[in-house]
Amino acid sequence: MTRKFDTLAVHAGAEPDAETGAVAAPIHLSTTFRHDPDGGTDDFSYQRDDHPTQRRLETALAALECGERALAFASGMGAIAAMLDTLQRGQRVVVPDDCYVGLRGYATEVLPERGIEVVVVDTADLGAVRDACKQGVALVWAESPSNPRLKVSDLAGLARIAHTHGARFACDNTFATPVLQRPLQLGADVVMHSTSKYFGGHGDVLGGALVFARNDDFAERIAARRLLTGAILAPFSAWLTLRGCRSLPARMALHCANACKVAGYLATHPAIERVNWPGLPNHPGHAIAKRQMRGDEGMFGAMLSIELRGGFDAAVAVARRSRLFTNATSLGGCESLIEHRASAEGGHTRSPPGLLRLSIGLEDAGDLIADLQQALG
Ligand SMILES: *Cc1c(COP(=O)(O)O)cnc(C)c1O
Repeated sequence: MTRKFDTLAVHAGAEPDAETGAVAAPIHLSTTFRHDPDGGTDDFSYQRDDHPTQRRLETALAALECGERALAFASGMGAIAAMLDTLQRGQRVVVPDDCYVGLRGYATEVLPERGIEVVVVDTADLGAVRDACKQGVALVWAESPSNPRLKVSDLAGLARIAHTHGARFACDNTFATPVLQRPLQLGADVVMHSTSKYFGGHGDVLGGALVFARNDDFAERIAARRLLTGAILAPFSAWLTLRGCRSLPARMALHCANACKVAGYLATHPAIERVNWPGLPNHPGHAIAKRQMRGDEGMFGAMLSIELRGGFDAAVAVARRSRLFTNATSLGGCESLIEHRASAEGGHTRSPPGLLRLSIGLEDAGDLIADLQQALG
């Protein structure tokens, strides 16, 4: 029987324990597993290779992103690195101009050292991506909505362009989550997640994942490399993340409803020059987000950023005055966070000086708006 998404979120990878009947998934901490003396075993052998709790999570992640295979990693950056490390000397990769600062750091520091050419493009502009691909490309990377400007890229369009040029297309789906958008169904080959964010959902577990459209040699190569480099997800982290999957759709619905109210309020505030949230009709990516995310239900994600007319000083002052919003990095937890990204990102930043990024949590929307009202002055 085919199951609907919310049902999969609760049940995929979370079957009762076969041995005890325990309804909550067990955590297996064992680093090693008994096997036949002649070495012949198809099952678990050593935790760095594979372990039962991680395998449960990977089953859930593959089901939710509609992929054939998922691989969990120790962090989102571990997943990004595993994907980028498949590139060979002399190959080219397209990365977005607005993206997670760790990807930018990797693309700036690590890839050129390994002889890989990085082309930075506004992936919201399909023409620019097409031009960038003309000299050959092995991988097109996108992030939609992007960090921290919430730019929206047309994922189906990017997949077509990448495939026309014989490249793979990978998408960081951390901000949207599969609740709002499933890039593999739009033609992506690989989806990447920082599960430290909405999947974990409580700001208490680090993790990352790659989900593959096909369980082919490429996925197998990355799995084999993970065994060698060791960036697996620890059992307790895998267990917490699996637990997060079960309430992900319910949390996302409330996150999105709150974000819609907060963005509506911010859009009217005279101290703010621009509100970056794809749900606002004047957002440049609104039409694409509407069809690509769950626009018909008003669900455009719960990350937004604002650009203050008063620039750097005004933005830092708002972050300093906020009380209910905690000044902290990261996102996707129950509590609302605010952060001045240019200060947080350090040397690799491209964030405008007056930009604040907000992760809208699960508090009462009226309380969140009241806090922003007093902080904006
Ligand atoms: C946090 C984040 C990452 C990196 O993930 P970690 O789990 O912190 O290593 C990558 N992409 C996006 C969009 C993120 O928000």
